[in-house]
Amino acid sequence: MTKFESQIILDILDKYQTISSLGSLVSLADWDLNTYLPPKGAEDRGFILSKVNILLKKLILDGDLVSLIEKAEKSEQLNDYERAVIRILNREINMIKKIPDDFLEEWNRTVNQAQMVWREAKENDDFNTFLPYLEKIINLTRKRADLLGYDNHPYDALIDIFEEGWNTADFDSFFFRIKNSLLEFLEKIKSSKFFVEKHPLENEKYRQADMEKLNYFVLELLGFDPSRSRLDIAPHPFENAISYNDVRITTWYHQQDFRKSLTATIHEFGHALYELQVDPDLKFTPLQGGVSYAFHESQSRFWENIVGRNKVFLERVYDEARKIFPFMKKYSFESFFGYLNMIRPELIRVESDEITYHFHIILRFELEKALIEGKLKASQLPDIWRAKMKEYLGIEPQADSDGVLQDIHWSMGAIGYFPTYSLGSFLSGLWWSKIERDIGNFDDILKSNDGLKFIRDWLKDNIHQYGKTYLSKDLILKVYGQNFSSYPFLDYLKLKYFDTIGN
Ligand code: MG
Repeated sequence: MTKFESQIILDILDKYQTISSLGSLVSLADWDLNTYLPPKGAEDRGFILSKVNILLKKLILDGDLVSLIEKAEKSEQLNDYERAVIRILNREINMIKKIPDDFLEEWNRTVNQAQMVWREAKENDDFNTFLPYLEKIINLTRKRADLLGYDNHPYDALIDIFEEGWNTADFDSFFFRIKNSLLEFLEKIKSSKFFVEKHPLENEKYRQADMEKLNYFVLELLGFDPSRSRLDIAPHPFENAISYNDVRITTWYHQQDFRKSLTATIHEFGHALYELQVDPDLKFTPLQGGVSYAFHESQSRFWENIVGRNKVFLERVYDEARKIFPFMKKYSFESFFGYLNMIRPELIRVESDEITYHFHIILRFELEKALIEGKLKASQLPDIWRAKMKEYLGIEPQADSDGVLQDIHWSMGAIGYFPTYSLGSFLSGLWWSKIERDIGNFDDILKSNDGLKFIRDWLKDNIHQYGKTYLSKDLILKVYGQNFSSYPFLDYLKLKYFDTIGN
């Protein structure tokens, strides 16, 4: 079936190919910036990217394109794909129009400086040098919310940037519902085998070449296609979809504690697979790519946790790890499985397990909301951070670099982003539960020869192929048959951590 039939849409898509191509080159420059660029090139690259982004903005606001879109809007003959083209372009045009050039300039200048200051502040554990920048970012963010507009709460406008169609009230009720369940889980798990103070494998040192071997083994197992993708090294792992047949991922190597590299690799594979399985008809159109931040994270977390930490899957990884790492001879499968599935409150969000992770997000959500409401001053953050960590996880950072300074997001002005991380995990629970209903028991699927292919195909047929055609709430309904619910993910956790205790 051809996705696009209406002539006016074809005219729009023809114009859009230039925008999409320039966007690809921006992605390539950005990938390079985060991988192999010599350090002194970063400032020039920032300048180049800001100039190209202005050009991109002009192309989107191009008079011919805008009038084609206005004309197409009046046509009633459009299919889902064609309507989505109009919806996405209108959203982009409206967002650009709402933000005046002088505001955008001030915003970019501030976040560029703030990121550099944040990096040093984090290294020196010196919150006070970052504070004036953070205060400025919060003020600008409140202005940004006013410019973008919102119905009930200024934070709505910020959430909508990352998760279109979701608002503060949605996340208030989501976090309210999961908080008590997760606290209960955590309390219960403290007396189980999953609650580990320190695992000996965390101390085992590895050679990078060995870890690379294991990463490639696992990627091949998962269905990584080296003709359309590649794996590189970066200080912070990420995925970058440059074009339809060029979707890159990165990982990291710490020379010790190999699960960090393994889980990051699988996580980024999940992001990449989403992009690689979009319908090729959507290539170079506004529909190419993932629906939203949470949807993307639902893919990475699905592969990282639901597949990547699954017992049946890990049996295959264990056999290979024993061939590769000399130290693995000392460890039983049970011990290896426990290493990848330990529950332990951590100070650092990105090092947290499937359960305690969400308290890091709840904490950030509560703080962001209070900052935007003006109920909390940035200067109060270090203290309130400690208090909330103590309340939720029973631990508190001695240094702000392990507390309020740990994440890059606020220095980038990405306020309203964190909630999508938790939502992504909980969405991955919906996919798990629907796969069990559609195909059968998840472990049995993984035991079968084509199990991983079944799963990849299910994700492609139900989610990936559509690209950005549907809004996240609509696609949830289409895939899952009901509105979003937090229960499937909680069920998944219950089954994994409680119903199997003693097994
Ligand atoms: Mg991710």
